[in-house]
Amino acid sequence: MKKPLELIESHGVSRRDFLKYSAVMAALFGISEFEFTTKIAQAMEKASQKPPVIWLEGQDCAGCTISFTQILNPPATTIILDKISLRYHETAMAAAGHLAEKAYHDTVKEGGYVLVVEGSIPSADDRFCMVGGRPFKAIVEEAAQKAGAIIAVGACATFGGIPAATPSKGIGLGKALPGKALINLPTCPVHPDHLAGTVLYFLTTGKVPPLDKIGRPLIYFSESIHDNCRRRAHFDANRFLEDWNDPNQREWCLAKKGCKGPLANSDCPIRRWNDGINFCIDCGAPCMGCSEPEFYLDMSPLYTAESEISKRIFAMKEAGLFNRENS
Ligand code: SF4
Ligand code: SF4
Repeated sequence: MKKPLELIESHGVSRRDFLKYSAVMAALFGISEFEFTTKIAQAMEKASQKPPVIWLEGQDCAGCTISFTQILNPPATTIILDKISLRYHETAMAAAGHLAEKAYHDTVKEGGYVLVVEGSIPSADDRFCMVGGRPFKAIVEEAAQKAGAIIAVGACATFGGIPAATPSKGIGLGKALPGKALINLPTCPVHPDHLAGTVLYFLTTGKVPPLDKIGRPLIYFSESIHDNCRRRAHFDANRFLEDWNDPNQREWCLAKKGCKGPLANSDCPIRRWNDGINFCIDCGAPCMGCSEPEFYLDMSPLYTAESEISKRIFAMKEAGLFNRENS
């Protein structure tokens, strides 16, 4: 049986180049170089049996890529190297230039891959986002044609996100690919568990998970932030934090500080972030509603209750629509 480095060399990759690449990637994945090398070698052995994945990046900050590679349970390495064949990812792949383009085109020709899209698509002018000399929009349309499943990750790829508020007028995949079946995984960035769970669900069942009416998996997005918030009793009792310097108000509801939790659906209060350590509201920040199509423009201003959405929340409260028996 070939040793890991021998196996890698047999695929035409020099030891020197591979070890240099491993040092960077092992640090990114938080594992030893030896473990990374071994996993790559094992992945190469099994590559032909694993579903191929193309991960495109448009108008993004690579935050969703970073979020996903920080996942600990299961480790990103397990998913990327053992469960899928990641053929094209501009931030993570070793290849560059024509070699990278070749990997992309070969996979598109094959069809049946999982297409992951991070970042929005400019609607004002294609020139706001060009990759390899081609409009990102054209690349997404091309890659979507033969994809077995399409997953939009993060607020930008799902509904436009922050780039929707820029001159590029970024749009999400739903608008860029009208009529195409999509899985939307919003939040800014994507929650790594949401992506890992969705990919693993698809790999093990061959189906997309049950979705809500805007394409989000119900397992992650069926309940509001508000319904699972530990400050909820203060909202019901009209105790709203107004003065950050008053220790008596520290645990009170953040609605007057712009919290959009009553109109935002995600399992953040239960799943939490950073391997279950904390989430926005429990560390004192109002929910910005990043799981919703209205994020970022219509959720702004984020830290006061002046937005139309905040006004709607208070009107709904006044009308009793958040009373426990109605919510
Ligand atoms: S408005 Fe925000 S802080 Fe207040 S209870 Fe609802 S989710 Fe929690
Ligand atoms: S709590 Fe709100 S702002 Fe924070 S990640 Fe969840 S949906 Fe986004």
